[in-house]
Amino acid sequence: MSRVFVGLGSNLHQPARQLQRAFGELAEIPGTSLEARSSLYVSQPMGPADQPDYLNAVARLETVLEPLALLDRLQAIETLHQRRRERHWGPRTLDLDLLLYDDLVMDSPRLRIPHPGMGERDFVLEPLLEIGGDIEIPGRGRAADLLAQCRVRTARRIDE
Ligand code: AMP
Repeated sequence: MSRVFVGLGSNLHQPARQLQRAFGELAEIPGTSLEARSSLYVSQPMGPADQPDYLNAVARLETVLEPLALLDRLQAIETLHQRRRERHWGPRTLDLDLLLYDDLVMDSPRLRIPHPGMGERDFVLEPLLEIGGDIEIPGRGRAADLLAQCRVRTARRIDE
């Protein structure tokens, strides 16, 4: 079994419902169990500002799936949420990122682990710290140190 962290994000079509649904769908992936889910966090968009705020969260999974097989499953869930890729960093109904897979480091055309950019994003690090503790991100450092170094901090935990 491998321990995996997945980042969830949404800023369209009732984001809180998109994320709640996605947690259920992650739990249904074959050979996989949902071990923990963070609170929801609201943050300002990173790309174009003329779009709604984002909701983000992190899930911790245990899985027997290899990284690319798991990515296939994550992308199938994104498709279920009718995600459309209209513009880079534009609004989306659901974005699922494979953040960490054990302490694996990989760099293939389809999949980079740890997820690029996760070490600079407060809306990833805050929920990761909530359910993963101050874990080491391979090649980057400890999650709490990386959060302290984030230049932009807009993520706020919300009560559900
Ligand atoms: P995005 O539009 O940011 O969701 O990027 C999706 C693309 O990133 C897909 O084509 C994936 O193959 C690729 N990708 C590379 N590394 C990762 C990762 N760690 N998690 C999710 N997608 C990834």
